[in-house]
Amino acid sequence: MRHQLFIDGRFVDAESGETLPTLNPHDNTPIVDVAMAGKADVDKAVQAAQRALPAWSAMAAMDRGRILLRLADLIESHAEELARLESLDTGHPIRDSRGLDVPRTAVNFRYFGGMADKLQGDQIPVEAGFLNYTLREPIGVVGQVVPWNFPLMFTSWKLGPALAAGNCVVLKPAEITPLTSLRIAELLSEAGLPDGVVNVLPGLGGVAGQYIAEHPAIGKIAFTGSTATGQRIVQASAGNLKKVQLELGGKGANIVFGDANLDAAVNGAAWAIFHNQGQACIAGSRLVLHESIADEFLARFVTLARSVRLGNPLDENTEMGPLTSAQHRDRVLSYVDVALAQGGEILAGGKAPGGALSQGCYVEPTVVRVKSWRDRVAQEEVFGPFVTVITFKTDEEALQIANGTEYGLGAGLWTGSLQRAHKFAREIKSGMVWINSYKRVNPASPFGGVGKSGYGREMGFEAMREYTQVKSVWVNVDAVVPPHFKR
Ligand code: NAP
Ligand code: MG
Repeated sequence: MRHQLFIDGRFVDAESGETLPTLNPHDNTPIVDVAMAGKADVDKAVQAAQRALPAWSAMAAMDRGRILLRLADLIESHAEELARLESLDTGHPIRDSRGLDVPRTAVNFRYFGGMADKLQGDQIPVEAGFLNYTLREPIGVVGQVVPWNFPLMFTSWKLGPALAAGNCVVLKPAEITPLTSLRIAELLSEAGLPDGVVNVLPGLGGVAGQYIAEHPAIGKIAFTGSTATGQRIVQASAGNLKKVQLELGGKGANIVFGDANLDAAVNGAAWAIFHNQGQACIAGSRLVLHESIADEFLARFVTLARSVRLGNPLDENTEMGPLTSAQHRDRVLSYVDVALAQGGEILAGGKAPGGALSQGCYVEPTVVRVKSWRDRVAQEEVFGPFVTVITFKTDEEALQIANGTEYGLGAGLWTGSLQRAHKFAREIKSGMVWINSYKRVNPASPFGGVGKSGYGREMGFEAMREYTQVKSVWVNVDAVVPPHFKR
C-alpha cells in the first residue's frame, strides 16, 4: 500500500517527516500512516512539474493519449485491487467500487486518452490578406484539489483532461482518502508517464491545499468540494490571477409529477440520494412531490429506504456502507435536530444503526418531511443519506421550489409529458437536468454547476477547453502594408 508523497516519479517522505493516519470508516481502525505534504513538498512538486512541462507539452498529442489509454487498461487489469482499496479507505460498498468507481475511472481515462489528439484550433475568416488561426495551448502547471467522496473516480475527471491537453499536475487528495490516488500515480508511471508530469501530495487542505491555491507558479486550480472552501480558493488564487475551476456543492431537486411512472421514480429517487451514502454533489436530496401521488410515492419510497442493506463495505451484499468519516457522520446526524427544530417529521432513519455497525460511521437512510422549502435542511447541503420531502400543487410552485436554493448543480424530473419535461429543462437553474432518470454521468457530457455550485465544466470538449488557453495567430499572407504612417 503506497503511503508516501509521489513527487517527480518517486515515492518520498514529507520534508517534515510528518504523517497522518487514514482510517477505515467501517470501524474507525487505522489502515496506514500517510505522509503529510507541507509547503516545502508543494514547492518540490511544482519544480518537478515545471521541469517536466516542456517535453510533455511538446510530445505528440497521440502519444500523450496512448499513455492514458494504457493507464485505462492497467486500471482494468488491477480492478479488484483498486476496488478493495477504495472500499477500505472510503466505505463505498464493494459492489459500487467494482461496478461503478473502477470501471468509470478506466472509461474516463480512456475517453480523455482518445481526446488528446482531437482538440483542434480554428481558422477564422478575417479581413483580406490575412490568415488568422488559434492554437490551443496547455496552461502549464495546474493544481488539483479533490474531495473524499469519489477519490478514485475524481483522479480521472481531473487528471484525464489536464494530461490530454499537455499540462503537468500537482494533485492533493483529501486527507482522509489518499490511497487510491497514490496507486493511480504509480500505475501512471507504469503506463509510461514521464517523471514529474503528475505529483500526488496527500496533506491538509488548510496547508498543502491552500498553498497550491496560492502558488505563483501554478497557472490554474481545479477544485471539487464545498462552497466555503471554493470561496477560499478563489481568494487565494488572486495573487497570480490563476484560472479557477470550481465544482462545488448541490441541493438537487428531484421533482415527481402526477403523471410520472411511479415504479421508475421511486427507484430513481432512491438511487439519487442513497448511492454513495448520499455523499455526492449531484445527489437528489430534495424530493418535490405532486400532491396527487405524494402518499403513494412516500409509502413505497419509505419502505424501500428502510430495506436498504447497510453493512461492511467489503461484504458483497451491502448496498450502503458507512459515511467516509466519523466527523462527517456526526455532521449529517446533527441535521436531524435541525429538521426537528423547524417542525420536520422523520419518516425513516434519522439515526445511526445500533449493534455491530455502531463502531463505524453509519447513518440509516433518512427521509424527512419538511414544513417549508425554505427550512434549513431543505436549503443546506447535508451530503449524506438524508432526503427532504415537500409537496406541490402547480407546475409554477414546483419550479419555484426547484430554483429556490443558492445551488444549481443537478436536477431531476419525472413526468409523462414531453412538453412539461422540456419546459422545465429550460427553466431550471442548474448545470445538469435528468428527465425520467437521475445522476447520469458520461465522460462525453459536460458536468458542472451554476450559482454557488461553481463554474467551469468537466468532461467532454468543455473540459479540454478548461485546460487550455487560446492563442490567436495573425499571418500577413499578402504582405499587406498598413496605411497608417506610410511614408
Ligand atoms: P472541503 O473542505 O471542501 O474539502 C475538499 C478538499 O479541499 C479536500 O482535499 C480538502 O483538504 C481541501 N481543502 C480544505 N481547505 C482548503 C483550503 N483552504 N485550500 C485548499 N484546499 C482546501 O470539504 P469537507 O470539509 O471535507 O466537507 C464538507 C462539506 O463539503 C460536505 O459536507 C459537503 O457538503 C461538501 N462537499 C462537497 C463535495 C462535492 O463533491 N461537491 C465533496 C466533498 C465535500 P482536507 O482533506 O485536508 O480537508
Ligand atoms: Mg480513510
